[in-house]
Amino acid sequence: MGEPFATFVIHLHNSQPCDTVRAMTRIRSTPPSHPVALYVHVPFCRSRCAYCDFDTYTGLEFAMPAYTDAVCREIEAAGERWGSPPVSTIYFGGGTPSLLPLPLLRDILHAAQAAFRLSPAAEISLEANPGTLTSAYLHDLRNLGVQRLSLGIQSFHDAELELLGRLHTQAQARAAVAAARESGFRNLNLDLIYGLPRQKLCHWQETLRTATALEPEHLSLYGLAIEEETPLARQIAAGALPAPDPDRAADMYEWAAETLAQAGYRHYEISNWARSGQECRHNLTYWRNEPWLGVGAGAHSWLDHCRWANLTDPLAYIQATAEGRTPIIETTPVGPEQEMGDTMMLGLRLAEGVATDRFRARFGLALETVYGETLRHLQDLDLLTWDGQAARLTPRGRLLGNQVFVHFV
Ligand code: SF4
Repeated sequence: MGEPFATFVIHLHNSQPCDTVRAMTRIRSTPPSHPVALYVHVPFCRSRCAYCDFDTYTGLEFAMPAYTDAVCREIEAAGERWGSPPVSTIYFGGGTPSLLPLPLLRDILHAAQAAFRLSPAAEISLEANPGTLTSAYLHDLRNLGVQRLSLGIQSFHDAELELLGRLHTQAQARAAVAAARESGFRNLNLDLIYGLPRQKLCHWQETLRTATALEPEHLSLYGLAIEEETPLARQIAAGALPAPDPDRAADMYEWAAETLAQAGYRHYEISNWARSGQECRHNLTYWRNEPWLGVGAGAHSWLDHCRWANLTDPLAYIQATAEGRTPIIETTPVGPEQEMGDTMMLGLRLAEGVATDRFRARFGLALETVYGETLRHLQDLDLLTWDGQAARLTPRGRLLGNQVFVHFV
């Protein structure tokens, strides 16, 4: 879980407060003209999964009320600073947001409603671990106005769930989907992971068939990445497990893309499929490189030509806000060149690609002028198509995305 494009590395080298950077670079602090996507990071987990390297902590449940107060203070300050901007989506990510008691979630939503102009049609999403859910919690969550639930299922095989160190069993995952439906959720995402050590194609096929039989509106499929210093990485390094096979993972991805297309899902982003109209609006904001505001420990923001990141340690974050200090630790101004590169790198993840007219409207330059040579080179490699309307990845480009994105860094 976590901010949904963990693979997109934001380089933040400047540790100066944003206002200092703003003054140094003469960037104006202007209210955003575009609705903002609000990300709320909930950094608590009951236990640590074997593959996880996110900013998340176990054993800190006692700090949840103080953490909620800190998040509400940060939201209030952001509302004042940006002149109560319009907010079109709220996304609770983590960590395990479904560990947060309902009264605390309610406090955060009330703070957002008070500080921002929240659209009546706002998409409100929450990531949930199937091992933490009860029917009563799901009912109350729905009554709070959360309409989109993203369930971290990962696999429908108990042996694989155990390998990943997940809290839940496949039976609990099915029960969580059923309980979510009974509670009135009509917009469900299931997160699944493929490319596990020793995972056979037929196991992955069973997992995906089980998932589609549950008829979720949205599916996110992630290839397992072995991150350094995780228990899984240590097991592989010690020879206790084989490393994932990238060719087999590519076969799994291609099989999934064909199967989900036949089942009526639209492959709208490299790792994401949705029923028509059920694409995640919050995540589309990231991929279109539009403004977002992240609150909470370790959250990142992108607004008003600046990127910034908060303190990652939840207790340090709580202390900073309680003392009236900014929780921001790293800020960097973003110039037009970098913004164009980010827009390409993120936009190419989408099936819609990067539209030439939108690019010109945003930057006042033709795509041809800025990237013509690069786009032709990538076309020659069969990684990209460019028909004058939009630049888009080919199926091969989707598999080899990093070979494309590196040209826009
Ligand atoms: S539930 Fe597992 S994968 Fe998700 S943030 Fe917590 S430890 Fe990481």
